[in-house]
Amino acid sequence: MESLDRSTIWPYDERGEPGDFYYSRYSSPTVAEAEAALGALDGGEAVLFPSGSGATTSLALSLLEPGDTIALAAGAYYGTGVILQALAKWGLRHVEFDQTGPPPDGVQLIWLEAPSNPFLTMPDLESAVAHPARVVVDSTVATPVNLRPLERGADFALHSATKYLAGHDDVLLGAVIGHDLDDLRTFRSRTGISPAADPAWLLLRGLKTLELRVRRQTETASAIAERLRSHPKVLEVRYPGISGLLSFDVADGDAARRVETALELVVNATSLGGVTSVLESRHRWEGDRVPAGLLRFSAGLEDADALWADLAQALDAA
Ligand code: PLP
Repeated sequence: MESLDRSTIWPYDERGEPGDFYYSRYSSPTVAEAEAALGALDGGEAVLFPSGSGATTSLALSLLEPGDTIALAAGAYYGTGVILQALAKWGLRHVEFDQTGPPPDGVQLIWLEAPSNPFLTMPDLESAVAHPARVVVDSTVATPVNLRPLERGADFALHSATKYLAGHDDVLLGAVIGHDLDDLRTFRSRTGISPAADPAWLLLRGLKTLELRVRRQTETASAIAERLRSHPKVLEVRYPGISGLLSFDVADGDAARRVETALELVVNATSLGGVTSVLESRHRWEGDRVPAGLLRFSAGLEDADALWADLAQALDAA
């Protein structure tokens, strides 16, 4: 069994030399164990961060220099664009592109999302890895169960481990997986964007059921997507057939709000990838970047028929 070690310090050895662990901002046994488990799943070396956003910020700042440009998948997680925008005053530029085709020339980093949240497009990884720039794939939604970006030629996989990896809506964590991540590790310990032991321990527990959870969530989301497609109140359904995340459109913002507030089993809350099914209108956060009637649904582990019955009665209110 994995152990939970909350210490921040560990004694030097009998010669007075620091061992593998001496101060937890650099590394700690529980975090190292979670990194080993996640690295094995994604086929590389993992570095954990206190959140997915912390992983995004750290990777961008440690890889790039003022004047560099990032090609960001259009429709990727809203918060990624917000972070890159915040970094603009330090000279990092970003341009959006359609990730289902080749990335633009003249960029130093390509940032893909598999599949994108909440538009659920899949990136053209082959075109991206043929580009001279390094490639990051945010595979939070795909998880290593469905996609191992490093095996497909990407330089880095990135996760909000808050979502499927930990899986129980009680952990905030992020991760970057790649090869030779010494610079990123050094950046992390110098800047102090270091994860704590407790969430790492919960991540280790979550990883044990990752595959089971994702398979079940995928089955449920597939069944729900099919039923949504033939529902008269639903204009469009986006579901690429992997993982438990989908989005669909109802007529407008008022209809979306009526669906949200009529739910009884599905929780009207943000986030995704947990054992509890959640649904929310993304317009409240993303504004006109998404259709006003767009609802994002993340399948949990409840009975699929019970979930559909709840969604169907809520759609009646739309
Ligand atoms: N990447 C994706 C695809 C996400 O959905 C999220 C959060 O919603 C993040 C990154 C950011 O992760 P965190 O909320 O753990 O900072």
